[in-house]
Order: sequence, then structure tokens, then C-alpha cells
Amino acid sequence: MCAQQTLVAFKPDAIENAVVGQILSRFENEGLQVHEMKTVDVSDELLERHYNEHVGESYYPGLVEYMQERPVIACLLEGEDAVSRVRELLGDTDPAVAEPGTIRGDFGSDSFTEADRDGRAVRNLVHASATTDEAEKEIELWF
Ligand code: AMP
Repeated sequence: MCAQQTLVAFKPDAIENAVVGQILSRFENEGLQVHEMKTVDVSDELLERHYNEHVGESYYPGLVEYMQERPVIACLLEGEDAVSRVRELLGDTDPAVAEPGTIRGDFGSDSFTEADRDGRAVRNLVHASATTDEAEKEIELWF
């Protein structure tokens, strides 16, 4: 066990569907605390750096469009093993296969299959850092 910080970003669909509070409660109920939180009007440059490994993919223009629908809410969460615990609470990246009881399983309704078919980015409510190295880079980038 070790105290960590991780970057969570509430994407436009979480805000539009008014589930930010319920999602945040799930983190807080697990003992994770909000250290900082702010809205961010994400620029093309920020997205290019944040989603560097996705630049050039067919869905990348759709991903930019999705993330720029409205300002997103960036949140710096901290707690024991925050990086892996937040990812576990979120569930699979694809809401269609995320287990019931996970955030994406309970609040998500999109699927990679539908998104690929429509040529857009999948709507999955929340981004969270995948590794401690990624968390460090993303916190630096967003805060
Ligand atoms: P995340 O790091 O969880 O924010 O995930 C990256 C984002 O890229 C996902 O939330 C999707 O919106 C998008 N994405 C990644 N792979 C695909 C794909 N194969 N088809 C559509 N969208 C994708």
C-alpha cells in the first residue's frame, strides 16, 4: 500500500448526464480524497499531449470533438494505491463490457462496436491515469 495521486477527468458525457456527483461519491466512499479540482477548456495542444498514443488513429478527430464538447472537470485524487484503485472502480474502457458495479458498467451506455461503426470516439464518462508514471505526467500536464 502506498499513498498516491492520480488524474481523473470527467468527460463531457459525465457532465451532460449529471452523474459527476455520483461518480465522485464512489471514489470518496472508497477513501480517496479530492486534492484539487477545476474545469478545463481543453485545447488541441493539451489533447495532443494527453492522448499522444491515439494521434493518427481514425477515431482521433472524433476524440478531439468529444473532449471539446464542453469544458471537462479535472480532478487530482489521492489515497492508498489511488492509481490502480480508481481504474478498478471505473471498470473496462468499453462501457458495454464493463462489469455491473463498476462506474462505466453502471453509468455508461456506449460501446466500442457502436462507436467504430459510426466512426466516432467511444463515450466512456471518465479518464483516469493507467500507471503511476502516467499519473505523474498527466498531473503535470493538467495542473
Ligand atoms: P481514456 O484514456 O480512457 O480516456 O481512453 C481514450 C479514449 O479514446 C476513449 O475514451 C475513447 O473515447 C477513445 N478511443 C480509444 N480507442 C478507440 C476506438 N477503438 N474506437 C473509438 N474510440 C476509441
